[in-house]
Amino acid sequence: MTTRRDTEANIQSTAQVNAVPRFNRIALIGFGLIGGSIARAAREQGLAGEIVATARTARTRARVSELGIVERVVETNAEAVKDADLVIFCIPVGACGAVAQEIADHLKPGAIVSDVGSVKGAVVRDMAPHLPATAHFVPAHPVAGTEHSGPDSGFAELFIDRWCILTPPEGTQAGAVEQLRAFWTALGARVEIMTPDHHDLVLAITSHLPHLIAYTIVGTADELAQVTSSEVIKFSAGGFRDFTRIAASDPVMWRDVFLANKDAVLEMLGTFNEDLSRLTRAIRRGDAEALFEHFTRTRAIRRGIVEIGQDSAAPDFGRSHSELPVDPIPRPYAASGDD
Ligand code: NAP
Repeated sequence: MTTRRDTEANIQSTAQVNAVPRFNRIALIGFGLIGGSIARAAREQGLAGEIVATARTARTRARVSELGIVERVVETNAEAVKDADLVIFCIPVGACGAVAQEIADHLKPGAIVSDVGSVKGAVVRDMAPHLPATAHFVPAHPVAGTEHSGPDSGFAELFIDRWCILTPPEGTQAGAVEQLRAFWTALGARVEIMTPDHHDLVLAITSHLPHLIAYTIVGTADELAQVTSSEVIKFSAGGFRDFTRIAASDPVMWRDVFLANKDAVLEMLGTFNEDLSRLTRAIRRGDAEALFEHFTRTRAIRRGIVEIGQDSAAPDFGRSHSELPVDPIPRPYAASGDD
């Protein structure tokens, strides 16, 4: 019989000897953008003997079978985790507690249980009490994504050069954390470890608040009386278009994020509202200096993001643009200086 100590020793020695981890069986619960990307990347990198996947609806499960990326698609979460060495929840954060309860009795002793949720405090709170002491719980959040969802939206390169934050609860076995770190590194990610609370505060300002602002501004534009919606769409390249991309993100996922990270988001929203009031006042008073100073500071932040390789330096986010015709475009009127 395998004891917990045997499994721990096994995990530790594998992590030390082998930089690229290989799990006999990986179970993916949920197969959308993130689950599908993990499956594709893990397969390409040869990180699993077998990948078993499941999803909530028969429709998604059938599509995953058709895609042929994983070895087996099963109907229940309990069936998926059977004999798996690594179990990853790739589902909305609000569903994690109930699913943890569902799989608890079916986990292999020594299995690493992880997730990819965009909020960590609530996920740890909801999942940890259900997991047996023989499992190693290492929550994770790959800070990578797109506005697309569903089993067809994933791609193997999604995590390359993106951060994956691990938030192991105190006392988590170090070998298990290293195994998961090596797994995410092999998928192309850079890994950082922090507490769940700190993660939630950082992500509140870097991800959750920007999404909230995008959802707000797109809604506001939609409700404007003086500007028609066809004008909003026509002139969207003025900046609005970039908000619409973010605001097209999955409504279920984002509903759960705001419910689960309520305190940190409200704290950041308070600071944001104060700053917005300051800028509003500067505009009202015609305070050119205050506006210029603020915009100069934010421009430097953008340059910093490009410098560390987290975005493209190409103008307009690297979008391709039609080439200008070789011949000059005929002007409808004479420009100044023309005869
Ligand atoms: P997704 O493409 O919408 O896929 C979600 C998957 O979860 C689907 O397979 C879905 O099954 C399943 N599911 C939904 N509700 C469920 C429930 N109540 N119980 C069990 N399974 C359920 O979502 P995603 O973008 O991959 O996001 C998954 C997780 O990754 C979320 O926790 C999110 O916070 C996190 N995340 C997302 C991004 C991003 O940019 N999208 C980035 C980083 C982290 P059906 O298709 O059968 O409904």
